[in-house]
Amino acid sequence: MTFLENYIAGELLPPVSKAYLGNVNPSTGIEYSKIPDSDKEDVEKAVQSAKAAFPSWSKMPKEKRSRVLIKLADLIEENLEELAAAEAKDNGKPLKLATRVDIPRASANIRFYATAIMHYASESHAMEDAAINYTLRKPIGVVGCISPWNLPLYLFTWKIAPAIAAGNCVVAKPSEVTPMTAYLFTKLCKQAGLPDGVLNVVHGLGPKVGAAITEHPEIKAISFTGGTITGETIARISAPMFKKISLELGGKNPNIIFADCDFEKAVSTSIHSSFANQGQICLCGSRIFIERSIYEKFKAAFVSKVKELKVGDPFDDNSDQGAVVSETHMNKVLACIETAKKEGGEILCGGERIVMQGNLANGYYIQPTVIDGLAFNCQTNQEEIFGPVVTLTPFDSEEEVLKYANSTKYGLASTVWTSDVTRAHRIASELEAGIVWVNCWLVRDLRTPFGGVKNSGVGREGGFEALHFFTEPKNVCINLK
Ligand code: NDP
Repeated sequence: MTFLENYIAGELLPPVSKAYLGNVNPSTGIEYSKIPDSDKEDVEKAVQSAKAAFPSWSKMPKEKRSRVLIKLADLIEENLEELAAAEAKDNGKPLKLATRVDIPRASANIRFYATAIMHYASESHAMEDAAINYTLRKPIGVVGCISPWNLPLYLFTWKIAPAIAAGNCVVAKPSEVTPMTAYLFTKLCKQAGLPDGVLNVVHGLGPKVGAAITEHPEIKAISFTGGTITGETIARISAPMFKKISLELGGKNPNIIFADCDFEKAVSTSIHSSFANQGQICLCGSRIFIERSIYEKFKAAFVSKVKELKVGDPFDDNSDQGAVVSETHMNKVLACIETAKKEGGEILCGGERIVMQGNLANGYYIQPTVIDGLAFNCQTNQEEIFGPVVTLTPFDSEEEVLKYANSTKYGLASTVWTSDVTRAHRIASELEAGIVWVNCWLVRDLRTPFGGVKNSGVGREGGFEALHFFTEPKNVCINLK
């Protein structure tokens, strides 16, 4: 049994309480490691360590900071196999997905911000011959980064990379459900020569460790990715302390298919956008709206392809889907399917838990599920499910589909399939979402602003947006007369 440890002041340490939580492999349902059940005392130690590291890290020339981060990105690549296997075991996702997407993206995040910081300039505003203004952008100090379980190392690094590159010191909490790769990552930080205290990782429960980070008065900014309800709690606690917050929250993303689309591409990409990572990506399209003239044709083609998806052992190369992340989450998704049935939905395929054989018998597997016959405004079509479940709904006009698409409280991402370029622009402009993909899905350029509107979040990550977030601007005005 492996015992994970916190990473504070460059040391791997047990929690102050000496208490541990079990960490389960979702593909087998068996506990395989223990993680620190940390509390506010561990967070306090982490904050003091970050504070001590801040003066020298923030003043270190950015070329040097950049070099350390590039070394860290290289080390992730060198350890790709070990990290991908750890991610697949901890999260239940197919190993091939972790190898192709999660771990390469973690290294790309760090490399991106290692180089972005070298190109990050601030603005200057000349007032003819009266005065000249320039903006100094300084790191904030100690910042908190709290990340979820669906893309563990990918989203963990997406936050800490810009924070550290900009010269801040970080107290981070990965999800208690998937702590393993963040733990392995701390060992690479040491190897890369990241100075002690620049990154501190405290493992444990959200309401204990996450709350202690949010409540700590010396943590001046919180970057959070997770559920909308947790985001609301963080916003409420942070507000009286005037902390900066960046919240990347839930979604209920529409996938709009017009009759003039490239049909084959729309079907195959929609399979991917519905079920990648067992549907546990905040950007997955869970409501598929199809123009009525191709509804039956799309439905038949889509359902037939979904039935071909192989759910199985994450370590089997033939598996298209692995296990969902936990027993609690599996039960939540299955309950959502029951709600859909009660609301009058017809299960076109899937709808059940899969009980595997042998050592996978207690794993958390769900059949990819497609439902139709539901109203656009029922609970199933309004609330996030975050699992391998999608609904199909026909529409007759642009006006109608925009009404459906924009009807939820969320506004993260959306996808539009059409060969009419004018319509693509028109719909993209009207969709209430932070991200619109046209004739593609999950094509990511790390320079672009990333985030949602409405209850999907506050602020943007990505590119220089994240460097803006992790720095404080100060305008200096020089009189020229
Ligand atoms: P949660 O909100 O439950 O948890 C996210 C993180 O917050 C975890 O580390 C969690 O710890 C921690 N946390 C829980 N309670 C608190 C608290 N009171 N104070 C501070 N931190 C807390 O989300 P999930 O992990 O379940 O992730 C799934 C959600 O994330 C979905 O809603 C999904 O849409 C969203 N998401 C959004 C993305 C985006 O970019 N917009 C991207 C990916 C996911 P612990 O795990 O220990 O409970």
